[in-house]
Amino acid sequence: MTSVIVVGGGAAGLVAAWRAASMGHRVTLLEANGRLGVKLRISGGGKCNITHDGPPKALLAAFTKEQARFLRPSLHAFGNEAVLDLLRQEGVATYVRDNGRVFPLDRPGSAAAVVAAFETRVRRAGVVVRSGARVTGLLGSAPRIDGVRLEREDLAAEEVILATGGASYPETGTRGEVLDWLKALGVPVRPWFPALAPIPLEIPRPAWEGVALRDGELRLSAGPGGRRLAAFAGDLLFTKAGLSGPAALELSQATERARRSGAAWLTYAAMADPPESVDAALQAEARANPRLLAATWLDRHLPERLVGPLLAEAGVPSDLRLKALSRDARKALVSLATALPLGGPRAVPLARGEVAAGGVDLAAVDPRTMLLRGWENLRACGELLDLDGPVGGYNLQAAFSTGYAAGTLA
Ligand SMILES: Cc1cc2nc3c(=O)[nH]c(=O)nc-3n(C[C@H](O)[C@H](O)[C@H](O)COP(=O)(O)OP(=O)(O)OC[C@H]3O[C@@H](n4cnc5c(N)ncnc54)[C@H](O)[C@@H]3O)c2cc1C
Repeated sequence: MTSVIVVGGGAAGLVAAWRAASMGHRVTLLEANGRLGVKLRISGGGKCNITHDGPPKALLAAFTKEQARFLRPSLHAFGNEAVLDLLRQEGVATYVRDNGRVFPLDRPGSAAAVVAAFETRVRRAGVVVRSGARVTGLLGSAPRIDGVRLEREDLAAEEVILATGGASYPETGTRGEVLDWLKALGVPVRPWFPALAPIPLEIPRPAWEGVALRDGELRLSAGPGGRRLAAFAGDLLFTKAGLSGPAALELSQATERARRSGAAWLTYAAMADPPESVDAALQAEARANPRLLAATWLDRHLPERLVGPLLAEAGVPSDLRLKALSRDARKALVSLATALPLGGPRAVPLARGEVAAGGVDLAAVDPRTMLLRGWENLRACGELLDLDGPVGGYNLQAAFSTGYAAGTLA
């Protein structure tokens, strides 16, 4: 029987602690917050998008190649079916939405039910849970960790599993400091980087707060008219400070990288067709329906609230009919529908991300055991690793799978 300390009682730490204890080890779970799974409780807007449906191959395809290679063994050992089986056994029924996202059956506080299920497992397996216990340092040096430092005491252990999460939403307990300690111990790390966060704009449109652009594509390019760097098809929401919604979240990491390299520009294509074909379609419309207002045409593609202000900005009179459309006015309409300029971004906030990119370099971790290379008894799992998937249940699944691997001690 080995003494094991798991630091962090979130998605990865709960699974790691349960798994290690169920294999007969003496496990203490240290959690800084007064209760377990605080970030899990707010996940999916309190509903918790637990995982994503589909075979392991499909789930892996949502990650970068490097991340997928790393995740493969742990996802095979403890994949979405295993997570859902565990929840079912603890009385949490789930369902799959049309988009493949898996949620607990709808009822208030369903994320809390997920936490309760894991907490039951942890306690039944005999884990000693210490909440309100913030670890303030690591004891030991490569190749052996001796234990951890708490505010008032040192705790020794034969094995330490770090499951302290990322660095976003610090109010949920994740401040990211453990990465600095690991760096100081010589572990290769990549600095925290914003991901799945809203994008503030240099020139926001507070008057449009709450307006949603649907079914189009957010595009990132290297400056106005520059090379396309990335794109995401999905809804976009105007906020007071800039942009949110699925498309903004998914493009936030690439946007911040481009911004830091000095060239980032965002546009939204309400119509995904190339401008030339939209132009041809508009000309055909003008022939077939010459009395149609330009505003009415644009209103088919963009929310009504934006049409007036955008036409005014483009210098197109709101009472202009298609039969009187000049070449310039036509070009302006086509450009609004295919490349609505949103402008340059301001710094994407790390703290508001659903996940933090960066973390322990995956090359420094054994993907089967989560042991840090060069260490005999120090493991890391969950968001503390340089793992970040898209929205859709992938991040929690990665935390569950890597937590399970970390807890599978010989
Ligand atoms: C608003 C929001 C919504 C989200 N929705 C979803 C979703 O629906 N589906 C999905 O897949 N993902 C979602 N995510 C992402 C997902 O919640 C995380 O990827 C996941 O929780 C990571 O698990 P983890 O165990 O690594 O870290 P966490 O769950 O963050 O747990 C880490 C724990 O470690 C503790 N800790 C940190 N430092 C110390 C210390 N020094 N000493 C002691 N304890 C410490 C923290 O208090 C925390 O409880 C969401 C994230 C946010 C912020």
